[in-house]
Parts: sequence; C-alpha cells; structure tokens
Amino acid sequence: MIDLHTHLDLYPDAISILEKTNKINQFTLAVTTSPRAWRATSKIFSDYKNIKVGLGLHPEIVNEKYNELEIFLSSIPKTKFIGEIGIDGSARFSKSLQKQEIVFENVVRECQKVGGRIMSIHSRAAASKILSILSRYPHVGKPVLHWFTGTPTELATAIDMRCMFSINSVMLKSKKGRNLVSKIPKELILPESDGPFNRINNQAVMPWEAFQLKEALSKIWQISDVETEEQVNRNLIKLLSC
Ligand code: MN
Repeated sequence: MIDLHTHLDLYPDAISILEKTNKINQFTLAVTTSPRAWRATSKIFSDYKNIKVGLGLHPEIVNEKYNELEIFLSSIPKTKFIGEIGIDGSARFSKSLQKQEIVFENVVRECQKVGGRIMSIHSRAAASKILSILSRYPHVGKPVLHWFTGTPTELATAIDMRCMFSINSVMLKSKKGRNLVSKIPKELILPESDGPFNRINNQAVMPWEAFQLKEALSKIWQISDVETEEQVNRNLIKLLSC
C-alpha cells in the first residue's frame, strides 16, 4: 500500500496508528502544514522507516504562518520531501493570495537551488498559477499535484511538464473526476488518502486505505488489479529515484 498525501499528524489518534501505517504501507508521505509542525512530527515519526515527513506550509494558513517562511527555507536542505505547499485561489483565501504566491515561489526556488525535491502540491483554483511558477524552475525536482481539479488545458500543461498526480477515491466517485484521471498517463499516477480531512461514509480515510481506489483505477485503465498495483509500484520507485 502507498499513500502519497496524508495528514498523519492530524488524526486524533496519530500515535496509535503509526505502527499500523508503517507496517501495512510500503510508503507513506505524511505532509505537514507548517515548518514547526514538520520539526515536531519528524522527531516523533523518525523511528518508522516507511513513513516520510514532508516539510510544509499549507496555503490555507499562510496568513497565520507567514513568519515561518524563514524556517521553511532554511530547513529545505534537511529533507527530501516538501508538502503540503501550494496556492489556493478560492475566494475564502483571496486575502492571502499574494503571500501564498510569495511562499510558493520562494520554496520552489530554494528546492531548485538545493538540487530538487519531491513536493506535494495543493493547486485548488490556482493550477495555472502553480504551473506558471513551476515552469520557471525546471530543475525543481518532482512536483506531485495532489487532488488536481484543474481544467483540461491546465491538465495537459501539467502532463507536458511531467508533473505527477496523487489521486484519491473521492476524485474517482464523480464522472468528472474519472474523466480527468483517464487523461493522465498511467506512469504519472500515485494514490493518496488526504486523511483525516478526506472522509468516506463519514469516516476519515486511513493511510492504508488510500489504494482502495485500485479497482476503480483498473477499470479506467482496463487492466487487471495486479497490473494496476505493479504500475503504481513502478511509479513510486521512479518518483523516489529522482
Ligand atoms: Mn491535504
């Protein structure tokens, strides 16, 4: 099992699910929402070798955490994984839009400077902005667009740029989501839970449930579940080798 985007530190019972997550999942990217949270979480999670912690600053809280940008930039050399970062262009966060763009571009620039990083990116209502910034930093590492909901044109641009996509079961529930996923080349897709915020039947999706979308994905790809699993495993290996 693989989970490329979970807020593992934000489950009410985080500590008690670490062991199980580490055991069932061959790889889990636990993203964080602020550099201070990354520091604390990294210490607690360090004994679990299959769980990696992403250094993040969530776009929804950029206003509150803007003063942590310096910690963020100085911490980038210490980790291979960045996330959750990005830009949220929805009306609710329009007040912080400029700060969000400053944070995102500074982080991306720094990632390129240190030789590239694997990054989990939030792009709600801001895919064009994200892609235009990323296009200015071609050696940024590997951007993984999490829960991508951009337009077909934005999707085509992201694919051209060889971004990867972490997808979740909620995306595959709607026809629109399935249609979007069907346009992404197989080798660019990885599963995510986005728990505990992402809920199915009023239950937080657990990190070991991220790949329950395997059957739906097999249908889209028109291959067997085993082949789907092999494909996704190859994708992970490729991602981690960059
Ligand atoms: Mn998230």
